[in-house]
Amino acid sequence: MIQCKQCLLNSSVSKVFSVNENGICNYCNYYTEVNAKLGNINERKAWITKKIEEIKRSGAGKEYDCILGVSGGVDSSYLAYWAKENGLRPLVVHFDNGWNSELATENIRNICEKLGFELNTHVINWHEFKELQLAYLKAGVIDIEALTDHAIMATIYKIARQHKLKYTISGFNYATEAVMPKGWVFDKGDWENIKDIYKKFGRGRSIDTFPHISFYKKLYYHWFLKLESIQVLNYISYNKAEAKKIITEKLSWRDYGGKHYESIFTKFYQAYILPTRFGVDKRLAHYSNLICSNQIKKEEAIIELQKPLYIENELELEKEYVLKKLELSKEEFDKLMAEPERPHTAFKTEVKMWNNYFTFLNILKFKFKRAR
Ligand SMILES: [Zn+2]
Repeated sequence: MIQCKQCLLNSSVSKVFSVNENGICNYCNYYTEVNAKLGNINERKAWITKKIEEIKRSGAGKEYDCILGVSGGVDSSYLAYWAKENGLRPLVVHFDNGWNSELATENIRNICEKLGFELNTHVINWHEFKELQLAYLKAGVIDIEALTDHAIMATIYKIARQHKLKYTISGFNYATEAVMPKGWVFDKGDWENIKDIYKKFGRGRSIDTFPHISFYKKLYYHWFLKLESIQVLNYISYNKAEAKKIITEKLSWRDYGGKHYESIFTKFYQAYILPTRFGVDKRLAHYSNLICSNQIKKEEAIIELQKPLYIENELELEKEYVLKKLELSKEEFDKLMAEPERPHTAFKTEVKMWNNYFTFLNILKFKFKRAR
């Protein structure tokens, strides 16, 4: 087993793992590369200042100037605070897939109240969502969370079109989310994959109102709507601990005790399903990322990693809650957990469509070049 000298990852986490001559892994190198591309702190500041002006200009005379999706987690909560500080007028959208913890609902309400933003909650059709989650569990594919992420993406596009908004501000950031071993997640945008998994492992019930975005619609949005997603936190000096302190003090935000633990399902997925069925502990990626961005020392991360994923008694209670909500018996669920993983690529995907599309674009570019 090869271990990265810098982070917590080793060759057992993914087939795609290598270290360079200095013993630094490909994921740490990826972090360094994407970070370097963003430029130095002054260049980033200049870029985001210009964008803020663009966003404000585009929203002149409109009720809102951008869209902001909030989950109640640290990143999106801090982003809401940043938006207010910088005079933006976001349309705040929360996507409710039925798994919100009470604390998340309370945090989101507090954030909007304190900042004076109106909250727009989109509640998914729970029966459809449950059918999809069950199909994913039965199929044995790893990225069950792709369902939520896909629906959020589709909902944001739809709202942008309805309100004729050009910008969405996103809490995605390299400081905490760039490191992710290959095979631990799948393309969240891939509707072909979701459809095919459901077709083969679903119970045939309708999922017609599930928010989705096809390959062609993505192209349409890209070329005609020109919606731009601004990853704000990449352009400001973003420190998770500091962000937590600010939102706790200013927005009465309260901690969930883990990344993405604002959702009961996500917590159960990360703390139980992933390690049990797939041998994956996502904290390895999260802490490795924080090591790369100098927000935690490796020794500290190793100590954090020793802590159990669930505190005593909590697991049984949450397992019971999740299974009851999914209408699965303990026996059925335990049987599924013992079944082997099936890769997402065992189903239809949009990979070939994207490859053809990029080949086509390249041919077009080449022809233009020759014609000039
Ligand atoms: Zn590394």
